[in-house]
Amino acid sequence: MQVLSIAIAGAGIGGLAAAALLARAGHRVQVFDQFAAPRPVGSGLVIQPVGQAVLDLCGAGAAARALGQPITAMTGIEVEHGRTVLSVAYDRPGGPRHGLAIHRAALFGVLLDAATQAGATIIPSARILAAPLEGKRWLVTDTARHGPFDLVVDAAGAGSPLSPLKARPLPYGAVWATVPWPEGTDFNPNALQQRYLRASRMAGVLPLGRMVTDGPPLAAVFWSLPVTALPDWPTQDMDAWKDEVLTLWPALAPFLTTLHSSSELTPARYSHGTLAKPYAERLVHIGDAAHRASPQLGQGANMALLDALALANAVAESDDPGPHYARTRRWHVRLYQGMSAAFTPQYQSDSRWLPAFRDRVLMPVSRLPPVPSILTHLVAGDLIPPLASTAFP
Ligand SMILES: Cc1cc2nc3c(=O)[nH]c(=O)nc-3n(C[C@H](O)[C@H](O)[C@H](O)COP(=O)(O)OP(=O)(O)OC[C@H]3O[C@@H](n4cnc5c(N)ncnc54)[C@H](O)[C@@H]3O)c2cc1C
Repeated sequence: MQVLSIAIAGAGIGGLAAAALLARAGHRVQVFDQFAAPRPVGSGLVIQPVGQAVLDLCGAGAAARALGQPITAMTGIEVEHGRTVLSVAYDRPGGPRHGLAIHRAALFGVLLDAATQAGATIIPSARILAAPLEGKRWLVTDTARHGPFDLVVDAAGAGSPLSPLKARPLPYGAVWATVPWPEGTDFNPNALQQRYLRASRMAGVLPLGRMVTDGPPLAAVFWSLPVTALPDWPTQDMDAWKDEVLTLWPALAPFLTTLHSSSELTPARYSHGTLAKPYAERLVHIGDAAHRASPQLGQGANMALLDALALANAVAESDDPGPHYARTRRWHVRLYQGMSAAFTPQYQSDSRWLPAFRDRVLMPVSRLPPVPSILTHLVAGDLIPPLASTAFP
C-alpha cells in the first residue's frame, strides 16, 4: 500500500471520522481546524444505524453508545386537531436497529479520541483559506502554508471556503438548547417527540444521553421559527417565548425551567444544495461541504459519516479516489437530498396547504403497509444501499 500524506480541512463529524479511518489504514493524516482548542458546536443529533456502523469502523462505536441514548421512535402531533403526523418506529422485526441520540460534544469527544488514537494529528487555530493545486495540493491557512499533500479532504462543513457549493438558504431555522432531563417526567426517554402548529411552529424534545458516562441525563429542546425572526432572538422576552411554546405543548414545561435567557438557546439556519461533482484533482468534498439539507430527516451527520467511509474505501481501492468516492455515494446522496427537500416544507414553512396535505393525505397513506417499514428505512438511512456496489457492514 502506498502511504499518502492527507490533509483534512475541518475537525467536525465527517473530518474526524475520515481522519480515524484513513489513519487506521496507515496514511499520514493531519486535521486542520479553526478552533483554538478542539471543541464541538451545538446541541444534539441522532446517529442512525448506518452512521453507527461507520462509528464502529472508526473505533468510536462502543464509546458513543456508552454516552448516547437509544431512540426507538419518532413521533409528531399536530396540535390543532390532535393528529399524529409523524410516526416512525425502529426495531421492527427484521428491520434496522435503533437510532442513537447523542450530544455533539460527546460525539466530538469519542471521534477525536478515535482519530488521535489511530495516529492522526490535530492542528488547531488554523483557519483555512484555500487549497491551491501546485503539482500536489497545499493548504493555506491564516498563519501558514502547509503541504504538499497527496490529497486534501474538505470537511469544513456548511461554510467551507474550499467548496464551490452555492446552497439555497431555507426560510425556516430553529433555536436549540441542551437542558437536564427532568426528574420524574413521564416523557419517553427513547423517543424524539415534536408538536406542530401547521408547519409554521414546531417544538421538539430529544433525549440526549450523557456528556460523561456517570453524568446526568440531558435533553435537547428545539423551537422552529422563520429566519426573519432569528436576528431578534437575542432580545426575545423569555416569559413570552415560554408562554408561546407551552400554549403549543403544555407538557414541555419541566424541560424549560432551567432556561432563563435567550442566549441559552443557539440559533441555527439551514440551507439546501448538493455538489454535482464533489471532487477535483487531489481534492474531495465530504459532509456538509458536499451537500447540505435541513435536519428534518436527521441525516446530515450520517451522510458525513458515510462520505468518510466511502472516501476511505476509495483511497484503498483507487489511485484517483475522487471519482470512485463520488460514484459510490451518488444515488444515496441524491435520494436523501431529494427526500429532505420534499419533507422539509411540510414541517417548516408558511404554507397552509402543505401541512393540510401532510395531515389528511400523507399521514393516512403512511399507515398502510408497507409504507411504515419504508419510512423506518428512510429514517434509518438505508432505504437504498448507502455505498453503491460495496457491501455495507
Ligand atoms: C441544529 C441542527 C441539528 C441537526 N440535527 C441532526 C440530526 O439529528 N442528525 C443528523 O444526522 N444531522 C443533524 N444535523 C446536521 C449535522 O450536524 C451536519 O450535517 C454535520 O455536522 C455535518 O458534518 P461535517 O463534518 O460536514 O461538518 P461540521 O460537523 O459542521 O464540521 C465542520 C468543521 O469545519 C471547521 N471549519 C469550518 N470552516 C473552517 C475554516 N475556514 N478553517 C478551518 N476549519 C473550519 C469547523 O470549525 C468544524 O469543526 C443537524 C444540524 C443542525 C444545524
